[in-house]
Amino acid sequence: METIYAALSPLITSAVIVVRISGSDALDVLSLLGAEGLEDKRVIHTKYSGSVNDDVLVTYFKGPASYTGEDVVEISFHGNPLIVSSAFADFEKLGFRGAQPGEFTKRAFINGKIDLTQAESVAELIDSKTKRGIDYSYSQLKGSMRKEVEGIRDIFINILTVIEAHIDFPEEDIEEAHENIVFNNLQTLRDSVSEILRSYTTHKVLRDGYRIAIVGKPNTGKSSLMNYLLKEDRAIVSEVAGTTRDYIESSFVLDGVPVSLVDTAGMRFTDDAIEKAGIEKTVSLINDADLVVVLLDNSLPLNHEDENVLSITEGMDRLLVVNKCDSQNILDLDNVDCHVSVKHDKNMKVFLNMCAAKVSLSDADVFGKSVMVTERQKHYFDQILTSVEKLIEYSEIDFDIFEYELNSSLRLLSEITGLSYTEDVLSNIFDNFCIGK
Ligand code: GDP
Ligand code: ZN
Repeated sequence: METIYAALSPLITSAVIVVRISGSDALDVLSLLGAEGLEDKRVIHTKYSGSVNDDVLVTYFKGPASYTGEDVVEISFHGNPLIVSSAFADFEKLGFRGAQPGEFTKRAFINGKIDLTQAESVAELIDSKTKRGIDYSYSQLKGSMRKEVEGIRDIFINILTVIEAHIDFPEEDIEEAHENIVFNNLQTLRDSVSEILRSYTTHKVLRDGYRIAIVGKPNTGKSSLMNYLLKEDRAIVSEVAGTTRDYIESSFVLDGVPVSLVDTAGMRFTDDAIEKAGIEKTVSLINDADLVVVLLDNSLPLNHEDENVLSITEGMDRLLVVNKCDSQNILDLDNVDCHVSVKHDKNMKVFLNMCAAKVSLSDADVFGKSVMVTERQKHYFDQILTSVEKLIEYSEIDFDIFEYELNSSLRLLSEITGLSYTEDVLSNIFDNFCIGK
C-alpha cells in the first residue's frame, strides 16, 4: 500500500506539529534525518535536513504492532506551518502522498487492528460534547461493542448448529429438548439485541442533547420558566432565536447532559384557520422534543386553548405543570404533575428534580450495556431484532425458514463489525473523519 502522511493536528503556529507517516516505505524518511536507523517504539532526537532544517523528535512504530498495522514514523517538528509544508514537499519527492480524512484509521481497520465499531468510536470520541459521551466512546474503542456482537454471534451459531443437525433428517421430529434450546436462545437474543437498541437513545442524547419544549397558551409563564431555568444553570452555551421569531431555543448542561429548551411563546393553540400554520409548526417542534412541559394557569379556568394543548401533547412524554400557584385557584384539573410559582420561586425544586430525573440517563435502564449504537449499527440491529421476533412467533420449527433467517442475521452481524463490508460503507464512515486520524 502507498505510504501516506499527515499532520496530526491543524497546521497552525504552535509549540510542535506532529506528522505521521504510514506505509511500507515509511522508513525511507531516514534519508532526510540525521539518524542512521530507528528502533521500534523509541524516541530519538535528531536533525531534519530536507528543503528545510529543523531539530526533531522521531518515533518509530514497526508494523504490524502500530496504529495502522504498517510501519509508522512520527516526527515532531517545531510548530511553524512553513516548516511542515516544506517537509511535506520533501515527502512527495520520496513518493509519499497526503493522507485522506480518516485514512490512518481506515488502514487500521483493513489491516485487522480494529473492527468497524471501534473505528466509528474514534470519530465519536473526538466529537463527544460531554464527559459521558467520551467515557462511552472510549469503552467502544476498547471493543465493548465488538464483544457484544461476538457474544450474539455465538448464540446464533448455537441455534444454527441445532437446526443444521436436524435438517438432514426431515422425517424425524426434533426432540423437545432441542426445540427448547432453540427457543430459549432466541429469547436471550431478543433481550440482548433490545437492550443494545435501547442504548441508541443514550447515544443520541449525548450527541444531540435532550430537547425540552415548553408549551401552553399565552401568559401561562412559559418565558418566565425559560428564564428561570437558564438562570438556574449558568452554563448557557448558546441562544438561538427561531427563524420566524415565534420560538426561542437555548442550550445548557443539566446533570452532564446537554439540554436545549424550546419556548413556543407566541404560538397560539386556537382553531382559527389563520393560526393553523402556526399550530402545525408547534406540533412538529413538540414532536421533536424528548420531554414536553405543558404549562397551565392556576388563576384561570381550563379553556378551549388549554384543551387543544392537552390533546396535542397527549401520549407524549410530558409533565403537566400548573403555574401561578400563589394566586387564587380557579383551574380544575386532575393528573397534574406539580404546582409551582415561577415568579415567586415556589416548589421549583420539585419541578427541577422531575426534569432532572427525565434528563439524567438512568444507569439501570440505558446503561445496561456499555455501548453506544451508531445510526449505522442501529439499522442492522433493527433488522436482526425483527428476524428474531419473527422466529420466536413460530410455535414449531420450520427448518428451511429458520436456517435462512439465522444465516441472514449472521450476515448482518458481520456487516456491523465489518467482517464483510463494501467501499460505500467504508467511505460513509471514514469520510466524516478529520485528516490525520
Ligand atoms: P408566556 O406568555 O407563557 O411566555 O408567559 P410570561 O412568562 O410572559 O408570563 C406572563 C405573565 O404571568 C407575566 O406578567 C408574569 O409576570 C406572570 N407570571 C409568571 N409566573 C407567575 C407566577 O408564578 N405567579 C403569578 N402570579 N404570575 C406569574
Ligand atoms: Zn453517531
